[in-house]
Amino acid sequence: MSSLSHVDPEIAELIKAEERRQADTVKLIASENYVSKAVLEATGTVLTNKYSEGYAGKRYYEGQQVIDQIETLAVERAKSLFGVAHANVQPYSGSPANLAVYLAFANPGDTVMGMGLPFGGHLTHGWSVSATGKWFSSVRYGVRRDTGRIDLDEVRALALEHRPKVIFCGGTAIPRTIDFPAFAEIAREVGAVLAADIAHIAGLVAGGAHPSPVGHADVITTTTHKTLRGPRGAMVMASSDEHAKALNKAVFPGLQGGPHNHTTAAIAVALREASTDEFKAYAHQVVANAKALAEELSSRGFSLVSGGTDNHLILIDLTSKGVGGKPAAQALDRAGLETNYNAVPFDQRKPFDPSGIRIGTPSVTSRGMGESEMRQIAAWMDEVVTALSKEDADHADTVIARVHAEVSELTGKYPTPGLD
Ligand SMILES: *Cc1c(COP(=O)(O)O)cnc(C)c1O
Repeated sequence: MSSLSHVDPEIAELIKAEERRQADTVKLIASENYVSKAVLEATGTVLTNKYSEGYAGKRYYEGQQVIDQIETLAVERAKSLFGVAHANVQPYSGSPANLAVYLAFANPGDTVMGMGLPFGGHLTHGWSVSATGKWFSSVRYGVRRDTGRIDLDEVRALALEHRPKVIFCGGTAIPRTIDFPAFAEIAREVGAVLAADIAHIAGLVAGGAHPSPVGHADVITTTTHKTLRGPRGAMVMASSDEHAKALNKAVFPGLQGGPHNHTTAAIAVALREASTDEFKAYAHQVVANAKALAEELSSRGFSLVSGGTDNHLILIDLTSKGVGGKPAAQALDRAGLETNYNAVPFDQRKPFDPSGIRIGTPSVTSRGMGESEMRQIAAWMDEVVTALSKEDADHADTVIARVHAEVSELTGKYPTPGLD
């Protein structure tokens, strides 16, 4: 980054500081990952200079000789990796990808359905503060109180009662396998379009570590930067060509102008990486690590929503530990363990001060850590949370400092993809 250091030393220094921070922490944020050096390189290219509104072969600007080839490669790789008939790689991120689905299949005021935010759904699945909750009449389903799992009987009853145009399945804090065939049956029964939002699990689906929605969902949306290990971006896919035209029209010109071509190229690179046997092994290790982490946390008295995990993600209810999610996440971060506070189903506390934390294994697995490191991480989390619950600030500081030193020793042994 010699040019950057010269032109803008302030930003260059801050980027270096963030590089060090990412290398020195155990990143347990379930929605994050480390991209490869190849993906980073594709992102920082002259492709950012080019406007290319439209689609390959049908653009509104000249000079698309190269961009058309790049976008076509990205589309073909997405189709082949996920086994879909249609893929659009232009959405700027996951939220606009979901907006494209509404634009393609619903009109303002129509009824739509998705998982409620406090139960693990995404804002764009019709939550009240989101445009999708303001412009549509949104119906929300949740999980069962006794199992912490999606109540498919409730989903079906709500769908029959409200007859939504679009049903979203998938979410941001769901530790269990999504039953795509069951959702498809409900959607078919009420004549709704089923959209599977696999933003969190796309890498697991690609690697064969989670069932695929292909052949069940009418539309599949995903971010490219979570378990898929690509740049910040998104895709809209479809099992068949039936809705291809409507989806393309919704992305452009419906919602967006020019695609971010540097991102498209980096998506193509990530999709190539995700099609390797190495990536399949990665996806399965992500799940094995999450299971090991969940088991160790459970055995240490942590209460896990739904009792465990099938995927990359664990939602911890800290009520039994006598500590709130926010102070716990802050103390863990001081110890070098990066998490986010999160509401748990039927949370008695407020959204800005909820009862839980959400953790995940995509990033630590990308660094090459395995099950024994997961057990060590659970032990550290236990030490920090237990120290915090004693309400003795000096004692907590001492524990946090010692854990931080041990965390640094561990992170020093594992290379950071993209950096080392
Ligand atoms: C992350 C996520 C999104 C939104 O992605 P952004 O890129 O942050 O807009 C949408 N849906 C689900 C389920 C997600 O987890």
